[in-house]
Amino acid sequence: METKDLVLIGIVVVYVLIAYLFSRLGKYREIGTRRLFILSLLLTPVIGIAFLASSQHRKLNLYTEERFKCEECGYVFSEEHDNCPFCEKEGKQSQLKPVSMFMT
Ligand SMILES: [Zn+2]
Repeated sequence: METKDLVLIGIVVVYVLIAYLFSRLGKYREIGTRRLFILSLLLTPVIGIAFLASSQHRKLNLYTEERFKCEECGYVFSEEHDNCPFCEKEGKQSQLKPVSMFMT
């Protein structure tokens, strides 16, 4: 492969990555991440910013976030795990339970 091709692939990858990271901003807006990602990808993130700005905040700044709670030790994780890593260290298999937490 030529250097020219590699540079082109690199640009495309970075572009998709920027569009993806940017689309995450739409998570708490009415527009949502998926629509913002597609818009950013097809119409550049610059146009995406305009859509994000015009999109309303969801539910007056009050939103819930999905968290994962261990019933065993009570620890709440922001990411999903198969089993609680803390309890796993102690040899226990404890599944995490998805919970919605109010964020302010
Ligand atoms: Zn635990």
